[in-house]
Amino acid sequence: MTTSPHIVTSVDELQKKVRKALKQAQVQLNAQATDDARPRHSTLGFVPTMGALHDGHAQLIRRAREQNDVVVVSVFINPLQFGPGEDFDRYPRTLEADAALAGEADVDFIFAPTVEEMYPDGEPAVRVSAGEMGTFFEGATRPGHFDGVLTVVNKFFNILKPAAGRHLVNAYFGQKDAQQLALVQRMVADFNHSVTIKSVSMVREDNGLAYSSRNQYLSDEQREQALVLSRTLALLREQMIAKGPENFDLSAARERIDSAEGVRLDYLEMVDPTTFKAPTADSTRVLGLVAAYVGETRLIDNMELL
Ligand code: AMP
Repeated sequence: MTTSPHIVTSVDELQKKVRKALKQAQVQLNAQATDDARPRHSTLGFVPTMGALHDGHAQLIRRAREQNDVVVVSVFINPLQFGPGEDFDRYPRTLEADAALAGEADVDFIFAPTVEEMYPDGEPAVRVSAGEMGTFFEGATRPGHFDGVLTVVNKFFNILKPAAGRHLVNAYFGQKDAQQLALVQRMVADFNHSVTIKSVSMVREDNGLAYSSRNQYLSDEQREQALVLSRTLALLREQMIAKGPENFDLSAARERIDSAEGVRLDYLEMVDPTTFKAPTADSTRVLGLVAAYVGETRLIDNMELL
C-alpha cells in the first residue's frame, strides 16, 4: 500500500519521530523473535537529497527501504554548496512530486527543513573542510562546494545519530557524485561518525544519459547532445579493456566531447576513485570522470573504466 510520508520541517520534530519509529520497529522485531534467536536492533536508513527526485534517487531510496526499518529522505537545497552565479535560485523545487515518489517507495519521513531551520544563526562560522581532495575536479570548478556538502552532511548525521541512539544508521549516496561519495567516506573515517555509508551505483536512462535533477534544464535537442558524455566514457572503457591503463591517452576523447555541437568540455580525467588522484600501479580501479556544459547547464558523469 502506498501512503504519503510525513513531511517534517523541524529538527526537533524529526528527532522525536525517528526515536519513536525506531522504538516501534523494535517492539515488532522483539515480538517476532524466537527463543533461540535474539532480535536484532532496528535500523535507520537515511537518503540525503536536494529534491527534484528522479529514478536515480529512487534507487537509493529503494535500497534504503530494503535494508532498514525506518527510512528518512531529506530534501534540502543547501545554499552553502552553491557558488555565486550558480543555480541556487532556479534549482527545481518540487516537494509535492517528491513526496509522491517517496510515498510510492514507502518512505517514513521526508525531512524538508528551511534554510533558517538548518542555519538559524545565518552562515555557519565553523565548517567542515574537504581538504586537498575537495580542491580537485568539481572542487576546482566550484570552490567551496565540497566544504558546503560536508558541512550539511555532518549536520544531518549529528541530528540523526542522537535520535537513533543504539540503533544503526545507514546513509545512502550515489556513485553519480563519485567525488562527493569519496569525501563523505573520508569524513566518516576522519570524524569517527558511527554511520555506515552505502554507495549505490549510477542509474541511467535507456539511452545512457545519467539521471540528474539538472536534466530538467535541457531542451530535447540538448538531451541528445548530452549523450556524448556517456558515449565517450563507454568508448574509453572499451579501449581501456583492450589496451590496458598504461600510457592511456585521453586527448582524442577530450576533443570528441569539446567539438560536439552545443557542448563545452570542463574536464575529462582518469582517477583512482579512492584518492581522486591519477591512478598508480597500486590502483585496483580506474574511474573516468567528465564534466561539461551543454548549453548553460553543467553536467557530470563517470564510469568505471577498469
Ligand atoms: P542530489 O539531489 O543531486 O544532491 O543527489 C542526492 C543523491 O542522489 C546523491 O547521493 C547522488 O549521488 C544521488 N544520485 C543522483 N543522481 C543519481 C543517479 N543518476 N544515479 C545514482 N545516484 C544518483
